[in-house]
Amino acid sequence: MSPVDGEGGPPQAVPSDGKAAIEAAGAARRRAGLVGGLRRFATAPGPKPDGRQNAQAPAVAGPPPRGEGETCDLCGTSLPPDHRHLLQLEERRIDCSCEPCWAMRSGDTEYRPVGTRTAWLPDFELSGERWASFAIPIGLTFFMRSSTAKTVVALYPSPAGATESELDMGSWDALVADNPVLEGLDTDSEGLVVNRLSDPHQYAIAPIDQCYALVGLVKSSWEGISGGTGLERAIAGYFDGLRQRAAA
Ligand SMILES: [Zn+2]
Ligand SMILES: [Zn+2]
Repeated sequence: MSPVDGEGGPPQAVPSDGKAAIEAAGAARRRAGLVGGLRRFATAPGPKPDGRQNAQAPAVAGPPPRGEGETCDLCGTSLPPDHRHLLQLEERRIDCSCEPCWAMRSGDTEYRPVGTRTAWLPDFELSGERWASFAIPIGLTFFMRSSTAKTVVALYPSPAGATESELDMGSWDALVADNPVLEGLDTDSEGLVVNRLSDPHQYAIAPIDQCYALVGLVKSSWEGISGGTGLERAIAGYFDGLRQRAAA
Protein backbone atom coordinates (compact mmCIF):
# COMPACT_ATOMS: atom_id res chain seq x y z
CA MET A 1 0.00 0.00 0.00
CA SER A 2 1.36 3.39 -0.91
CA PRO A 3 1.17 5.96 1.88
CA VAL A 4 0.18 8.69 -0.56
CA ASP A 5 -2.23 9.01 -3.45
CA GLY A 6 -0.89 10.06 -6.80
CA GLU A 7 -1.99 13.52 -7.87
CA GLY A 8 -5.60 13.23 -9.01
CA GLY A 9 -5.71 9.60 -7.96
CA PRO A 10 -8.72 7.85 -6.46
CA PRO A 11 -9.88 9.05 -3.05
CA GLN A 12 -7.98 7.40 -0.25
CA ALA A 13 -10.10 5.61 2.31
CA VAL A 14 -10.20 7.79 5.38
CA PRO A 15 -10.65 6.09 8.73
CA SER A 16 -13.28 8.14 10.50
CA ASP A 17 -13.51 6.27 13.76
CA GLY A 18 -10.82 6.74 16.33
CA LYS A 19 -9.58 3.17 16.56
CA ALA A 20 -9.08 3.03 12.81
CA ALA A 21 -7.27 6.35 12.94
CA ILE A 22 -4.96 5.09 15.65
CA GLU A 23 -4.15 1.95 13.72
CA ALA A 24 -3.63 4.02 10.57
CA ALA A 25 -1.20 6.06 12.63
CA GLY A 26 0.41 2.87 13.86
CA ALA A 27 0.86 1.73 10.29
CA ALA A 28 2.37 5.08 9.40
CA ARG A 29 4.69 4.77 12.36
CA ARG A 30 5.89 1.38 11.24
CA ARG A 31 6.44 2.69 7.76
CA ALA A 32 8.48 5.63 8.90
CA GLY A 33 9.49 5.06 12.49
CA LEU A 34 7.40 8.16 13.12
CA VAL A 35 6.39 7.95 16.74
CA GLY A 36 9.48 6.06 17.88
CA GLY A 37 11.53 8.73 16.23
CA LEU A 38 9.63 11.79 17.44
CA ARG A 39 12.67 13.02 19.27
CA ARG A 40 14.74 12.68 16.16
CA PHE A 41 12.39 14.97 14.29
CA ALA A 42 12.04 17.41 17.13
CA THR A 43 13.17 20.92 16.41
CA ALA A 44 13.29 23.83 18.79
CA PRO A 45 11.94 27.19 17.56
CA GLY A 46 14.87 28.99 19.17
CA PRO A 47 17.03 28.93 22.25
CA LYS A 48 15.09 27.95 25.34
CA PRO A 49 15.00 30.44 28.22
CA ASP A 50 17.46 28.34 30.15
CA GLY A 51 19.62 27.59 27.12
CA ARG A 52 18.59 23.94 26.74
CA GLN A 53 18.53 22.65 23.19
CA ASN A 54 16.83 19.28 23.32
CA ALA A 55 19.90 18.08 25.19
CA GLN A 56 17.99 15.07 26.46
CA ALA A 57 17.20 13.76 22.97
CA PRO A 58 18.17 10.10 22.96
CA ALA A 59 19.33 8.23 19.88
CA VAL A 60 16.09 6.37 19.17
CA ALA A 61 16.13 3.35 16.98
CA GLY A 62 12.93 2.95 14.95
CA PRO A 63 10.66 0.06 15.84
CA PRO A 64 11.68 -3.25 14.29
CA PRO A 65 9.93 -4.16 11.04
CA ARG A 66 6.86 -6.27 11.61
CA GLY A 67 4.18 -8.16 9.78
CA GLU A 68 0.70 -6.89 9.03
CA GLY A 69 -1.01 -7.54 12.36
CA GLU A 70 -0.77 -5.26 15.39
CA THR A 71 1.43 -6.60 18.16
CA CYS A 72 1.93 -5.59 21.77
CA ASP A 73 4.90 -3.20 21.92
CA LEU A 74 5.81 -4.56 25.36
CA CYS A 75 5.70 -8.34 24.92
CA GLY A 76 5.22 -8.89 21.19
CA THR A 77 1.98 -10.88 21.44
CA SER A 78 -0.46 -10.26 18.58
CA LEU A 79 -3.33 -7.88 19.29
CA PRO A 80 -6.95 -7.53 18.17
CA PRO A 81 -7.75 -4.26 16.34
CA ASP A 82 -9.44 -3.04 19.51
CA HIS A 83 -6.68 -2.77 22.11
CA ARG A 84 -5.23 -0.42 24.70
CA HIS A 85 -2.41 2.11 24.40
CA LEU A 86 0.16 3.44 26.85
CA LEU A 87 2.18 6.65 26.62
CA GLN A 88 5.90 6.07 27.12
CA LEU A 89 6.64 9.25 29.05
CA GLU A 90 10.30 9.92 28.34
CA GLU A 91 10.06 9.55 24.57
CA ARG A 92 6.41 10.68 24.41
CA ARG A 93 5.66 7.64 22.30
CA ILE A 94 2.41 5.66 22.04
CA ASP A 95 2.81 1.92 22.61
CA CYS A 96 0.17 -0.65 21.67
CA SER A 97 -0.53 -2.92 24.66
CA CYS A 98 -2.16 -6.26 25.37
CA GLU A 99 -4.44 -6.53 28.42
CA PRO A 100 -1.89 -8.28 30.72
CA CYS A 101 0.85 -5.77 29.90
CA TRP A 102 -1.59 -2.89 30.35
CA ALA A 103 -2.59 -4.22 33.77
CA MET A 104 1.05 -4.77 34.81
CA ARG A 105 2.66 -1.67 33.33
CA SER A 106 0.11 1.16 33.45
CA GLY A 107 1.21 1.96 37.02
CA ASP A 108 4.92 2.11 36.06
CA THR A 109 6.67 5.46 36.33
CA GLU A 110 7.75 4.97 32.71
CA TYR A 111 4.18 4.70 31.37
CA ARG A 112 0.87 6.48 31.59
CA PRO A 113 -2.43 5.01 30.42
CA VAL A 114 -4.06 7.21 27.78
CA GLY A 115 -7.07 9.32 28.77
CA THR A 116 -10.61 8.13 28.27
CA ARG A 117 -12.67 11.24 27.55
CA THR A 118 -13.26 13.21 24.38
CA ALA A 119 -14.67 16.71 24.80
CA TRP A 120 -15.71 18.87 21.83
CA LEU A 121 -15.13 22.57 22.59
CA PRO A 122 -17.40 24.69 20.36
CA ASP A 123 -16.94 27.84 22.48
CA PHE A 124 -13.16 27.70 22.65
CA GLU A 125 -11.46 31.12 22.53
CA LEU A 126 -8.17 31.48 20.66
CA SER A 127 -7.58 34.81 18.92
CA GLY A 128 -5.31 35.14 15.91
CA GLU A 129 -2.90 37.19 17.99
CA ARG A 130 -2.64 34.57 20.73
CA TRP A 131 -2.31 31.80 18.19
CA ALA A 132 0.56 33.71 16.56
CA SER A 133 2.30 33.94 19.94
CA PHE A 134 2.68 30.14 19.94
CA ALA A 135 4.70 30.37 16.69
CA ILE A 136 3.30 27.15 15.24
CA PRO A 137 3.77 27.19 11.46
CA ILE A 138 0.77 24.99 10.56
CA GLY A 139 -2.86 25.36 11.65
CA LEU A 140 -2.99 21.86 13.01
CA THR A 141 -1.46 20.79 16.30
CA PHE A 142 -2.03 19.37 19.71
CA PHE A 143 -0.91 20.68 23.07
CA MET A 144 -0.07 18.45 26.01
CA ARG A 145 1.18 19.01 29.54
CA SER A 146 4.27 16.84 29.77
CA SER A 147 5.52 15.63 33.14
CA THR A 148 8.94 14.83 31.70
CA ALA A 149 9.37 18.14 29.86
CA LYS A 150 7.79 19.88 32.90
CA THR A 151 5.98 22.26 30.58
CA VAL A 152 3.35 22.34 27.86
CA VAL A 153 4.53 21.10 24.49
CA ALA A 154 2.98 21.46 21.07
CA LEU A 155 3.31 18.68 18.53
CA TYR A 156 2.44 19.41 14.95
CA PRO A 157 2.62 17.33 11.80
CA SER A 158 4.73 17.84 8.72
CA PRO A 159 5.53 15.61 5.74
CA ALA A 160 8.74 14.63 7.50
CA GLY A 161 7.02 13.59 10.74
CA ALA A 162 6.14 15.24 14.01
CA THR A 163 7.74 18.45 15.16
CA GLU A 164 7.74 19.35 18.82
CA SER A 165 8.15 22.70 20.49
CA GLU A 166 7.86 23.88 24.07
CA LEU A 167 5.33 26.64 24.54
CA ASP A 168 5.81 30.06 25.98
CA MET A 169 4.11 29.56 29.35
CA GLY A 170 2.80 33.12 29.51
CA SER A 171 0.82 32.52 26.32
CA TRP A 172 -0.39 29.15 27.58
CA ASP A 173 -1.50 30.61 30.93
CA ALA A 174 -3.43 33.32 29.08
CA LEU A 175 -5.10 30.63 26.95
CA VAL A 176 -6.10 28.75 30.11
CA ALA A 177 -7.50 31.97 31.61
CA ASP A 178 -9.68 32.42 28.50
CA ASN A 179 -10.67 28.73 28.52
CA PRO A 180 -10.97 27.38 32.08
CA VAL A 181 -11.79 23.94 30.63
CA LEU A 182 -8.01 23.61 30.13
CA GLU A 183 -7.45 23.63 33.90
CA GLY A 184 -8.74 20.05 33.82
CA LEU A 185 -6.42 18.91 31.02
CA ASP A 186 -4.75 15.80 32.41
CA THR A 187 -0.95 15.77 32.34
CA ASP A 188 0.49 13.32 29.78
CA SER A 189 -2.69 11.33 29.22
CA GLU A 190 -4.73 13.78 27.14
CA GLY A 191 -4.21 16.72 24.82
CA LEU A 192 -5.90 19.75 23.28
CA VAL A 193 -6.33 19.20 19.54
CA VAL A 194 -6.46 22.34 17.40
CA ASN A 195 -7.62 22.66 13.79
CA ARG A 196 -7.27 26.18 12.42
CA LEU A 197 -7.46 25.01 8.83
CA SER A 198 -11.23 24.61 9.14
CA ASP A 199 -13.87 27.32 9.21
CA PRO A 200 -14.94 27.63 11.96
CA HIS A 201 -11.83 26.47 13.78
CA GLN A 202 -12.19 23.21 15.70
CA TYR A 203 -11.00 22.32 19.19
CA ALA A 204 -11.29 19.21 21.33
CA ILE A 205 -9.75 17.53 24.33
CA ALA A 206 -8.87 13.96 23.37
CA PRO A 207 -6.99 10.93 24.73
CA ILE A 208 -3.31 11.32 23.93
CA ASP A 209 -3.21 8.34 21.56
CA GLN A 210 -5.92 10.07 19.50
CA CYS A 211 -3.78 13.20 19.46
CA TYR A 212 -0.80 11.28 18.11
CA ALA A 213 -3.11 9.61 15.59
CA LEU A 214 -3.65 13.04 13.98
CA VAL A 215 0.08 13.39 13.39
CA GLY A 216 0.29 9.91 11.87
CA LEU A 217 -2.77 10.54 9.73
CA VAL A 218 -1.28 13.71 8.28
CA LYS A 219 2.00 12.02 7.49
CA SER A 220 0.29 9.09 5.80
CA SER A 221 -2.06 11.26 3.69
CA TRP A 222 0.23 14.17 2.76
CA GLU A 223 0.68 14.60 -0.97
CA GLY A 224 2.60 17.25 -2.89
CA ILE A 225 3.72 20.53 -1.38
CA SER A 226 0.41 21.84 -0.06
CA GLY A 227 -0.86 18.59 1.42
CA GLY A 228 -3.53 17.95 -1.20
CA THR A 229 -7.19 16.94 -1.14
CA GLY A 230 -6.45 13.51 0.39
CA LEU A 231 -5.05 15.31 3.40
CA GLU A 232 -8.06 17.63 3.63
CA ARG A 233 -10.41 14.63 3.63
CA ALA A 234 -8.32 12.80 6.20
CA ILE A 235 -8.32 15.79 8.54
CA ALA A 236 -12.06 16.38 8.12
CA GLY A 237 -12.72 12.69 8.81
CA TYR A 238 -10.53 12.74 11.89
CA PHE A 239 -12.32 15.75 13.41
CA ASP A 240 -15.76 14.36 12.53
CA GLY A 241 -14.73 11.23 14.43
CA LEU A 242 -13.70 13.26 17.46
CA ARG A 243 -16.98 15.17 17.46
CA GLN A 244 -18.98 11.95 17.24
CA ARG A 245 -17.09 10.36 20.12
CA ALA A 246 -17.57 13.48 22.21
CA ALA A 247 -21.34 13.28 21.62
CA ALA A 248 -21.52 9.52 22.33
ZN1 LIG B 1 1.84 -7.45 26.02
ZN1 LIG C 1 -2.43 0.17 18.69
